[in-house]
Amino acid sequence: MSKKKKKTKIHKGVYRLVIIILALLIAYVAYLKIYKVSSIKDIFEGVETKEANLTEYIVYGTHLNIKGNLEIDSTNIDKVSLAFKTINTENQEEFPMTYTKTQNGIEFSTSDLINEGINLEEMPLNTYYFFIKVDYNNGTSSYYSLKNDTDYEYKDDENLEYYTITKNEKNNKIDIKFANYDMSGTEIEYMYMGVGYIKLPDNVYDVVIDPGHGGADVGAENGKYNEAELTLEIAEKVKEELEDLGLKVLMTRDGTEGNEYNVYSVYDNNGRVNVTGDSKAKYVFSIHLNSIEQANSQSGVEIYAPAKINLNFAKSLADNIVKSADTKYSGLQMNYKVDEGVYVRTLTEEDIESSRKGAIAKGYEPYDIKENTPYLYMIRETGGIATGAYVDGRNTSYGVNKYYDSNIGVEAYLLELGYINNRIDLENIVNNQEGYVEGIVKAIKDELLGEDYVAPIKKDDKEQTNTNTKRN
Ligand SMILES: [Zn+2]
Repeated sequence: MSKKKKKTKIHKGVYRLVIIILALLIAYVAYLKIYKVSSIKDIFEGVETKEANLTEYIVYGTHLNIKGNLEIDSTNIDKVSLAFKTINTENQEEFPMTYTKTQNGIEFSTSDLINEGINLEEMPLNTYYFFIKVDYNNGTSSYYSLKNDTDYEYKDDENLEYYTITKNEKNNKIDIKFANYDMSGTEIEYMYMGVGYIKLPDNVYDVVIDPGHGGADVGAENGKYNEAELTLEIAEKVKEELEDLGLKVLMTRDGTEGNEYNVYSVYDNNGRVNVTGDSKAKYVFSIHLNSIEQANSQSGVEIYAPAKINLNFAKSLADNIVKSADTKYSGLQMNYKVDEGVYVRTLTEEDIESSRKGAIAKGYEPYDIKENTPYLYMIRETGGIATGAYVDGRNTSYGVNKYYDSNIGVEAYLLELGYINNRIDLENIVNNQEGYVEGIVKAIKDELLGEDYVAPIKKDDKEQTNTNTKRN
């Protein structure tokens, strides 16, 4: 009797197991049908054996831009795009590219503006294989993988690493790499990008705040007030509020630099430019106060931005500060003013000529200054290749910007909050600092996190609330 019972139990067990296996099999078949499981072999199916030449791949701020050329018959092209192929997904993302026809093919680009292109903040977790997709008028299309034809000097290897901005206490790490694939005997090079979760490394930041001047360099002065002290006070408050939003913020100086001049040696290892580059931050904000020869003759806010960018963020910084601090846009009318409160100052012919003459006088090879090179070093040198950084050590009295040839740049803005030698501006900057801080923080929040972003409650705040509840 007992034996029989046991047997029935075993039978029931086997029966259940069979049902479970069958159910799993059905689920697996359904999964295959829905997700069309593929492999790297499928990724390269139909891809041309000739590659497109990649001549630039640059990250500036939060966007990746690529440029290159392709030797093809360009007569019947309908459009050119950057296609992201992924394993295990049906949808293939396509990013439209601009292109121009050349003598023997095309030149393509994701954007002409350095802070536009592919938004790395919005790439979902996956591995993306990059192809130039050419669509023709007859409805056919061809895919070309990308061969790295760049010669950037600053790189440990060809790997480009990017960390997304901290949102809801989370970050992604993006790796852009190159590899080879064997197309039945023909090796072709390809570019791909991996996006995965990561715990942000200690030395990686979201934002750098640079309080202008410092140490022996007090900047502009008016009576007992000076630029270095006031910008530090404001910068510290901005840092605190950005940290309350969950952002990781680094300061280029914190007031402990004493009375040394080395804080102004911007290209030293601990100088502002290299500290900014080391941080792997996405943005740097340099805070300054203005001054003009004739006191009270000028006032208001000036935001200095890099050349060849989408200026919406610069305009938002100017608008928010003016509104929140109850101040006004600067009245400074120069040919580099591009909007109310927004200025894009680049090197003029005379600047370039004097740089050249200075080099010859000091006996070093003149800098190869490119078109649209920003005038302000904090904007130019922190952007690497994207902004035409050039301090490479040839002028031995300067030091070296380790990142002058980097293809990953920090998006930079220089904020002149007002004129220290204007009575009304100074009074406002001294007595209404919160107004300036609020304006700066609001603009940064809207741009980096979104207008609707709500910062998660920090762990120690939570603990504090719990303890309070217990006590009550
Ligand atoms: Zn200054």
